[in-house]
Amino acid sequence: MNRSDFAILKEQVHGRPLVYLDNAATSQKPRQVVEAIMEAYSTWNSNIHRGVHHLSQVATAHHEEARKAVAAFINARSSDEIVFTKGTTDSLNALAFSYGEAFVGEGDEIIVSGLEHHSNIVPWQMLCARKKAVLRHIPLREDLTLDLEAYKGMLNERTKLVSVAHVSNVLGIIQPVEEIICLAHEKHIPVCIDGAQSVPHMQVDVQALDCDFLAFSGHKMYSPTGIGVLYGKREWLEKLPPHEGGGEMIEHVRWEGTTYNELPYKFEAGTPNFVGSYALHKAVEYMQSIGWKALESHERELTQYCEAQLSAIPGVHIYAAGQPKAGVISFNVYNGQLSTLIHPFDIGTLLDQQGVAVRTGHHCAEPLIDYLGVPGTVRVSFGLYNDKTDVDAFIAALKKAQMMLS
Ligand code: PMP
Repeated sequence: MNRSDFAILKEQVHGRPLVYLDNAATSQKPRQVVEAIMEAYSTWNSNIHRGVHHLSQVATAHHEEARKAVAAFINARSSDEIVFTKGTTDSLNALAFSYGEAFVGEGDEIIVSGLEHHSNIVPWQMLCARKKAVLRHIPLREDLTLDLEAYKGMLNERTKLVSVAHVSNVLGIIQPVEEIICLAHEKHIPVCIDGAQSVPHMQVDVQALDCDFLAFSGHKMYSPTGIGVLYGKREWLEKLPPHEGGGEMIEHVRWEGTTYNELPYKFEAGTPNFVGSYALHKAVEYMQSIGWKALESHERELTQYCEAQLSAIPGVHIYAAGQPKAGVISFNVYNGQLSTLIHPFDIGTLLDQQGVAVRTGHHCAEPLIDYLGVPGTVRVSFGLYNDKTDVDAFIAALKKAQMMLS
């Protein structure tokens, strides 16, 4: 992995070399992506679609090439199934609104899981409030895996959609989405996968998974903020109404009424983030140049190495210890003698003073944190540029923080 592509990793924080372990929140961007943004605004910036002039045609071509590249990246059947959004949250809100308008009524049920990010809870809660429907969640077992027996019992004729995270942003556990999808499909219920934490770290093939929808964010996979994707199977997207109105998404507008554009444009009202899509394309190419095999094994090895180091520290409790994880580890530190929790913020602050960036708190998953019965956790999360020296620096800093706080 070429760390030198990521200029920010040479920065110092509080006089110490930066150790960036907050990739689940957002990733750093390689030179190739930063330069692409510079190139776009310096040489071809122009509003896309309908433009007859040269720059508009160049910009349109880049945007549509990016759509094809993203479709190939997740193995979608067609680029018409790729809707560009602002990110995972935007994708899930779009789906909740649109699907809800078409298919959800009073007394219907939507299922999520007990470990979701707020963006895969709140849009469904809002939909349920609007439609007098019911939001249910798959309970967790003691080992923090999903209770699939309970899930089987929850699926019924009122269930209109299941939406679950592929990888938990708190625990890092890779969820059994294949089984979740199969069980739902046996009852003809569509499934949406929140891929915010999986698409950046593992090969996600929408045809192999057979998911009906997939949401993910560019900024967690080495591209800028403000660009993301909602994938939907064509047969579903065709049946769904647009969630927003405006330019781009129309075929004809008359005072008597409006007809909508074809897929995927009917879901892309307004000027899209075409520089973002171009940068996302560059990020996809960057990841492809490394290759999934190398990328996945590098991050798996690093996560296992870190978990082994962490578990050797007395007083450290790792959540979902020993379970296969995709680049995320959550833990808390206890004061050995008193066996009291050292507040995760205190650990995070002392790590920061030593140049180590981690995330602390509820990680936008309050129902899961409540279930764990703690005020929050400390979370380390890896990107392709992290290596064992980052883990060693983090472990040394953590031991120091623990000593200071005990
Ligand atoms: N779902 C999961 C699992 C996430 O980790 C995140 C980001 N933390 C989101 C959804 C929301 O992503 P975004 O803020 O990019 O919309």
